[in-house]
Amino acid sequence: MVYFVGAGPGDKELITIKGQKILAEADCIIYAGSLVNPELLEYAKADCILKDSASMTLEEVIEIIVENEKNGHMTARLHTGDPAIYGAIKEQIDIVEEKGIEFKVIPGVSSFSGAAAAMGVEYTLPGVSQTVILTRLEGRTPVPEKEKMTELAKIQASMAIFLSSGMLPELSKQLIEGGYPKETPAAIVYKATWPDEKIVITTVEELPEAGEQSDISRTALILVGNFLGGEYERSMLYHPEFTHGYRQGNSAGGND
Ligand code: SAH
Repeated sequence: MVYFVGAGPGDKELITIKGQKILAEADCIIYAGSLVNPELLEYAKADCILKDSASMTLEEVIEIIVENEKNGHMTARLHTGDPAIYGAIKEQIDIVEEKGIEFKVIPGVSSFSGAAAAMGVEYTLPGVSQTVILTRLEGRTPVPEKEKMTELAKIQASMAIFLSSGMLPELSKQLIEGGYPKETPAAIVYKATWPDEKIVITTVEELPEAGEQSDISRTALILVGNFLGGEYERSMLYHPEFTHGYRQGNSAGGND
């Protein structure tokens, strides 16, 4: 059996209870050493074999999983955040399935949730935005034409941008070209929920300078949108005049 486990964004207590249990039972943990907090490996049993996948190819990872299966050993494949987001798990799952190896995915707290928690912000503010876009700037991995940053920027939703903190001049340019006003609030959140977490608040226009000054170029998310600003409308859900399935409001109000 192989488990693809979400490690959470960094803080070792932000893994799920299920994920922690699997780490404690696993005979072998293959972890993404570049981003997974090594403190999570403290949950492993004493004789667990630990393998850092940072320098491995997909084929080498699979080889270890297959070998473990042969020996009746359980593998935990530990991915940062939630494995469904830029986790490259699909290519592993497809091979594992083809080889008839049983697998299960245990979700994790993604870094975009960790970053919002670290800042105490909400992506979905009434009157501001009801949509969150999780995306990245094109790097060596191509981004489909219709999802280019200039296209997504037209929507002016709340954005969490992964894998792009090393390309801030290009990012800032494309966000503005796409339609975000230059003064739109932006944040660089480095290592959200880790002990050395750093948060830099800036604007879309000043992202490149802010990145340079704070010397952040990796392991950071870029958040963009007016949800980082001060203006919004209060939520209907907790409004005294609003009726919903669990509470009778004091006016005709709608349901949601
Ligand atoms: N599966 C992960 C994302 C992996 S891609 C998740 O759900 O979070 C790697 C990118 O995620 C990094 O380049 C960075 O943009 C972001 N990232 C991962 N952990 C982070 C953290 N603790 N703080 C800020 N950004 C993080």
